[in-house]
Amino acid sequence: MATNDARWTAIPEVGHTADQVLADLAATKAHDRDWRSGKVFSLVYSAGDPIHELHAEALRLFSAENGLNVMAFPSIGILSRDLVGFAVDLLGGGVPTVNGYLTSGGTESLLQTMKVARDVGRERGIARPKVIAARSAHAAFTKAAELFDLELVRVGVTAGFTLDLDQMEEAIDERTIMLVGSAPTYPHGVIDPLEAIGAIALEHDLLFHVDACLGGFLLPWLTELGHVTTPFTFAIDGVTSMSADLHKYGYASKGVSVILYRDKTLARHQVFLTEDWMGGLYGSTVLAGTRPAGPIAAAWATVMRLGRQGYLELAETTWQAARRLIAGVGEIPGLMVLGEPDMTVLAIGATATAGINVFGVADELSRSGGWYLDRQSDPDALHLTVHAGSAPSVEPFLADLTVATATVTGKGEGDRSVPYATDQL
Ligand SMILES: *Cc1c(COP(=O)(O)O)cnc(C)c1O
Repeated sequence: MATNDARWTAIPEVGHTADQVLADLAATKAHDRDWRSGKVFSLVYSAGDPIHELHAEALRLFSAENGLNVMAFPSIGILSRDLVGFAVDLLGGGVPTVNGYLTSGGTESLLQTMKVARDVGRERGIARPKVIAARSAHAAFTKAAELFDLELVRVGVTAGFTLDLDQMEEAIDERTIMLVGSAPTYPHGVIDPLEAIGAIALEHDLLFHVDACLGGFLLPWLTELGHVTTPFTFAIDGVTSMSADLHKYGYASKGVSVILYRDKTLARHQVFLTEDWMGGLYGSTVLAGTRPAGPIAAAWATVMRLGRQGYLELAETTWQAARRLIAGVGEIPGLMVLGEPDMTVLAIGATATAGINVFGVADELSRSGGWYLDRQSDPDALHLTVHAGSAPSVEPFLADLTVATATVTGKGEGDRSVPYATDQL
């Protein structure tokens, strides 16, 4: 990739051959983390190569269509509706009025629910409505609060890393419009006390969003398998909206999440419609205008290909891998799993007296075995997202973790400068 300028790549005068650009693309990926190796406990969820190939075919079939307009491309409307329906089936809790929309990801689902909360707050005459969430709730709530001029109050967590109900109740005032709970939280994989939050929401006439971005397409299967008994759906009184990411444990390719609302009145706030320009009537239910249809098709193909049986098998594999990992970490001197993970994501910390810097452990794991883990702070921890594709890596990981931990014990600082998501800031 030649460049005339030290900073930027120039557009080639004459186009390269297709073979050449594809080879260049492959070469550009050379230093990316090899998630197929099973050594990346973050960012990628894999149900195996045949599903990735199915994604590629579906993306190819819909690569040019525009998801903006379902009049021109009714197929996209049909596929989207099906995907929302699948989520209603899993999370609706038997409430007949539950409905929703497809979004581009968990962040957009949260942006949408926060925008709806802002609108409902303003309808109630609150100039700058307030939303209360735990410090463990996803960073996208903070992004949404900045974008939509809401005040986000973050309350603490208990010793088990679930939302502190007392602090939440104390934070409620006349400007409060919405409470947030996670199923489960990203940092520690624990489910917040959702039924109790729902009761508080009803008592104070507040909205209540359950962020099931991570758990929405896994907890239902784990419940069916008997591994999870905590409720997390619209069956909980007081829940007014839920988010669930198809591109996480739905094993879809990137770019698809669902936002669900208890009723149409709430959902209507998400619909944008205008004639206030020269281009005619323009309507949209998402943040983007032109948007890719490929991810929608690929998500649909994934759900239809896997079916209930496929998802149940993947869920069982993932559950067993996570339980083995949790037990194995507990056996390594100086390390501990933070809290009691309800699902299949977990955080590894060091015991108070161990003299172990977990970031040093991560550095050593990366150096010795090419393992990639997210780094968290307050308390310092390493984060693991376990998915079906992680299962074969569990034993080798535990072996390397044991060695890495012994290597860094008593050796001071590790590199904490590898944040969760920076893009290229
Ligand atoms: C991943 C995640 C999000 C954000 O989703 P993106 O798809 O990364 O935008 C929100 N909440 C939770 C709990 C998540 O795990």
